Amino acid sequence: MKPDLFKAPDYYLLDDLLTEEHKLIRDTARAWVKKEVSPIIEDFAQRAEFPKQLIPGLAEIGGFGPYIPTEYGGAGLDQISYGLIMQEIERGDSGIRSTSSVQSSLVMYPIWKYGNEEQRKKYLPKLATGEYIGCFGLTEPDYGSNPGGMVTNFKDMGDHYLLNGAKMWISNAPFAQIAVVWAKNEEGRIHGLIVERGMEGFTTPETHNKWSLRASATGELIFDNVKVPKENLLPNKSGLGAPLGCLDSARYGIAWGAIGAAMDCYDTALRYSQERIQFDKPIGATQLQQKKLAEMITEITKAQLLTWRLGVLRNEGRATTAQISMAKRNNVAMALDIARDARQMLGGMGITGEYSIMRHMMNLESVVTYEGTHDIHLLITGMDVTGFPAFK
Ligand SMILES: Cc1cc2nc3c(=O)[nH]c(=O)nc-3n(C[C@H](O)[C@H](O)[C@H](O)COP(=O)(O)OP(=O)(O)OC[C@H]3O[C@@H](n4cnc5c(N)ncnc54)[C@H](O)[C@@H]3O)c2cc1C
Repeated sequence: MKPDLFKAPDYYLLDDLLTEEHKLIRDTARAWVKKEVSPIIEDFAQRAEFPKQLIPGLAEIGGFGPYIPTEYGGAGLDQISYGLIMQEIERGDSGIRSTSSVQSSLVMYPIWKYGNEEQRKKYLPKLATGEYIGCFGLTEPDYGSNPGGMVTNFKDMGDHYLLNGAKMWISNAPFAQIAVVWAKNEEGRIHGLIVERGMEGFTTPETHNKWSLRASATGELIFDNVKVPKENLLPNKSGLGAPLGCLDSARYGIAWGAIGAAMDCYDTALRYSQERIQFDKPIGATQLQQKKLAEMITEITKAQLLTWRLGVLRNEGRATTAQISMAKRNNVAMALDIARDARQMLGGMGITGEYSIMRHMMNLESVVTYEGTHDIHLLITGMDVTGFPAFK
């Protein structure tokens, strides 16, 4: 793979909106990605393997629970810092950002927000250092966009719960030590349970042959009469709103992360267009290629403004689920369009692993689908502005 010469575009001088601390956090993450992720990621993606050696470094740059309070081992940062870290990690690879997002927003967040003090103290510090990796089991074979229909269930057996069912498409599943699993009780109410590797009847088969997020491990969670201790139930929130609250936090991070992938594709295509000569001039001197680059930087700049404002609203506790949906939907589609155009700008070279673009493009096909598909987010915006849910 080519050396990482990444230079981040900042067309509207948005760095002026960041504090010195934000810039330090971002630059630290950026330097780590250049040094540790870029040199190895293509190889791991080609082999469809998650690079586990990155786990301690991810913890150090704040990639695990950046906004979780320091008393539980988190970095205690604000939402803009969280977003900037996600942007930089996804600039390297969406699969690595997925591991970070799942750990932070789908495992640490529910334990912090919906767990009790014993659960927080038991799990959060280990998750913050990466000693434990977690996964989040919501999606089922027959319930993806409609998770409320889930059939995974648990029964109260007096001194424990008995868990049965299956989850699929679960990031980190094949090697996670713990899983936050969403299941229905006998009354049909959804609760979160912490399931630990080693519990009898709990298996996590890996999903193979993905063309996307190849450097992220995906698998199933299978529960065959798993005895879950009663103290592993998250006591402080139940109902579908509980997992959806985690998704708000993860989707917000994805909105930032997608900008990272887009910036990497734009920067690569820009440099290539200045160097690649055809018909005796750089291809960047042609109107058609300039149109692509001009549209890319315009869309990146709009997405940067959208996420920065959303970050301010989240810091103030005012961001709505629908606002987060809009940013996730817009930014991922923007990044996918940019990746496709950038891929074309590199001609034949664009399909090789010499450059990061094709890997980003394939990764983004998952990102546009998971955590609510592109169309489902449109329906969320539609419901928000009209007042009519159009899901059913
Ligand atoms: C690589 C990867 C990692 C993932 N990681 C996780 C994870 O860690 N944890 C987890 O729980 N899940 C995870 N997922 C699952 C992901 O969230 C789901 O794939 C996603 O929610 C879509 O569900 P589905 O695949 O069942 O598609 P479906 O829900 O079957 O949707 C199929 C199509 O129908 C459309 N559609 C559905 N309903 C409507 C409607 N009412 N109106 C119009 N169109 C509709 C959708 O937009 C989509 O285009 C992951 C997925 C992938 C691919």
